[in-house]
Amino acid sequence: MGHASTRSVALVGLHPQLVDIEADAVPGDAELYLVGLPETSVWPARARIRAAILNSGTPWPDTRITVSVSPMIPPVYDAAADLALAVALLAAAGVIPPERIAGRMFLGELALDGGIRPIRGVLPMVAAAVRAGISRVVVPAECAREAAQVPGAVVMPVTRLADVADQLRHGIFRDHHDREPESAPSSSFAVDLADVPGNQAARRALEVCAAGGHHLFLSGDGPATMLAERLPGILPPLTDEAARQVAEIYSLAGRPDRAPRITPPLSAPHHSETPAVIFGSVAANRPGAVSLAHHGVLHLADAPEFTRPVLDGLCRPMDSGQVHLEGQGRSIRYPARFTLVLDARPCPCPEGREECACTPEARRRYRARLALLLPRVAVRAPIEQSNRGTRAGEPSAAVAARVLAARVRAAHRLADTPWRTNAEVPAPDLRTRFPVAPEAAELLRSAVNTGLVTADGLARLLRVAWTLADLRGADRPQFDDAVGALELWKGADGDGTR
Ligand SMILES: [Zn+2]
Repeated sequence: MGHASTRSVALVGLHPQLVDIEADAVPGDAELYLVGLPETSVWPARARIRAAILNSGTPWPDTRITVSVSPMIPPVYDAAADLALAVALLAAAGVIPPERIAGRMFLGELALDGGIRPIRGVLPMVAAAVRAGISRVVVPAECAREAAQVPGAVVMPVTRLADVADQLRHGIFRDHHDREPESAPSSSFAVDLADVPGNQAARRALEVCAAGGHHLFLSGDGPATMLAERLPGILPPLTDEAARQVAEIYSLAGRPDRAPRITPPLSAPHHSETPAVIFGSVAANRPGAVSLAHHGVLHLADAPEFTRPVLDGLCRPMDSGQVHLEGQGRSIRYPARFTLVLDARPCPCPEGREECACTPEARRRYRARLALLLPRVAVRAPIEQSNRGTRAGEPSAAVAARVLAARVRAAHRLADTPWRTNAEVPAPDLRTRFPVAPEAAELLRSAVNTGLVTADGLARLLRVAWTLADLRGADRPQFDDAVGALELWKGADGDGTR
């Protein structure tokens, strides 16, 4: 009777897996067998395909059809292969000439009424197709703009299965050459540090964190969100490779960028979000807030209000730069290397309450919720409500220039290493390859001896000292840089509870 084959892509985490789809029609009962789909997906997929074909005005083929997928589609988010399965079936049944589907990639989920639904992750999927030599990709219309961002892709947007079948049958399938005009890259946030009143210590801390990649804790009642929102704007622009990774993560999260991204991302989840929203979901193959902060900033406003599983769960991505999810017998990883900005008010009182009756013990318990996180945060600063807004603060552009100069110094020094920022340098290398001036080392050692910092904390102080030296344009940290690192470690309010 008939045979047809085509291609599709499935994603495991962000890793694309190309799949071959083969369909065979043989005489027999009008029946559809799906092979190579996860067991739990077979029935829903068959139901969608059947309904979509019938609702497209195509009679159900009067043959026994087997559609097989190889390698087997991983059991995450497989509905993206619906369209490829349906066109293979129609081609094997003789509705579509088989030669017209070979050499194309079909991506899209079928609705029961025959419509083609948008899917998440089109960007990494289309990129994988083009890398595999398949430039002609058929995608849901809503995803066309996203797919067209992949260099070399010839995108065919579709909205209904009936149209796809018609166009393939009549050979009038139009490739989408009339690309939408390129939007200007989104180069900067609309917010500027000049808008932040007062808060000199916090502004300085923000600059140090941007220059060295250090995490930041803002303590008190003040414009923490304003400051955090302005951190991406003073970070160096994303490299092409980093921008590509970030774009793929946002694509898989279902929040594709409308234009190429230059400024690092800001991810600021609310404290009521579930761990699945924060860390991602293995069942849905959906990255979470920590991965949406990759190469950028993760801001936890009112950090003690987050749940303990979230606060404690952040330690692993902070240490490893990725999030590892397991569940339902599978495991995936998403990248998650971010600069963390945490803030906490002094006590659990709701914002705006006039009188605070919190006991010192209640305040201590509130802060203790951050007990696992704070030792990983090298820089802390007080924030305060400030009305000294008459004098505009220094604009972001001026701060960004100093940050970039410091980053260039660090990158030059770290050129032969896998690390790009001071925050990434492992402790043993700080001792052996990047020693600080003897007086600086002595001061920091005495901080360990007096119990102010742990050995782990010492490494964080050394990293910040290097950043202060880079910001000064100095060759290595001197005594004053060690003093500065200690002050940033304690926070200017001396609230050194770690
Ligand atoms: Zn209170």
